[in-house]
Amino acid sequence: MSTYEILLKGHREVAAGTLAFSFTKPPGFAFKPGQAITLLLADPPLEANSRQRIFSLVSAPFEAELAIATRMREGSAFKRALKNLQPGAKLQLRGPRGTMTLHEERSRSAVFIAGGIGITPFMSMLRQAAHDRLAQRLLLICSNRRREDTPFLAELRDLARQDGNFRMLSRMTDTDGFIDAETIRSFVGDAAAPIYYLAGPPAMVDAMKAVLRGAGVGDGDVQSEQFYGY
Ligand SMILES: Cc1cc2nc3c(=O)[nH]c(=O)nc-3n(C[C@H](O)[C@H](O)[C@H](O)COP(=O)(O)OP(=O)(O)OC[C@H]3O[C@@H](n4cnc5c(N)ncnc54)[C@H](O)[C@@H]3O)c2cc1C
Repeated sequence: MSTYEILLKGHREVAAGTLAFSFTKPPGFAFKPGQAITLLLADPPLEANSRQRIFSLVSAPFEAELAIATRMREGSAFKRALKNLQPGAKLQLRGPRGTMTLHEERSRSAVFIAGGIGITPFMSMLRQAAHDRLAQRLLLICSNRRREDTPFLAELRDLARQDGNFRMLSRMTDTDGFIDAETIRSFVGDAAAPIYYLAGPPAMVDAMKAVLRGAGVGDGDVQSEQFYGY
């Protein structure tokens, strides 16, 4: 894994208490949609374990900038320091890392199941797929507490309107409850030989694995990324 110097470009809110940070893309840095980076602060706060965090890239490879997104609510010292940086601040990036990338067999559909901020690796895959006009069925179920907590909701709805191969279901746990086998079955319907991708808090990913196993999905058809720290 290589280390690169990057510059903060800025941040914007993408849901209540959720910020997306954009950075310059260093020459020579290449990644696949779904991969993550380690982001290192040049001048970390004194609190223990505040120098670096792992984030999935939200931006797609075709984009000129890099972007990540994170929930700020509890706000560790690392996250507070990141939020306080001014545009132009230097950071380091190490990576890319991770193997949860979209399968190449285009005849098989992909079903993304995102818990909260677990949407990030799928944003990169969906943006790149729309850019490439990928001929592959992509289905997304995202689960958040409330509508206002749902990151990138407007962009996702736009992508679904523009791309006939992409459908999404946005569920709110406050009103709809958790995603269960019936929700998945009725949404996925007869999509061809789906491969499932799970991302989010470890408890959510483990619960979804159990639901899929109970529904007869083989472990070989499930990929996942657990976001420790949630
Ligand atoms: C591959 C990958 C991709 C990720 N992508 C994103 C993303 O796109 N957006 C995002 O917001 N977060 C992502 N995360 C999680 C992220 O790295 C942070 O852990 C999370 O954002 C919480 O950060 P924090 O500073 O608020 O809390 P932290 O201080 O990091 O963590 C809070 C609690 O989690 C525990 N913890 C932290 N790391 C681990 C670990 N490795 N194993 C077990 N326990 C641990 C700590 O002990 C602490 O109790 C990703 C993690 C991984 C591994």
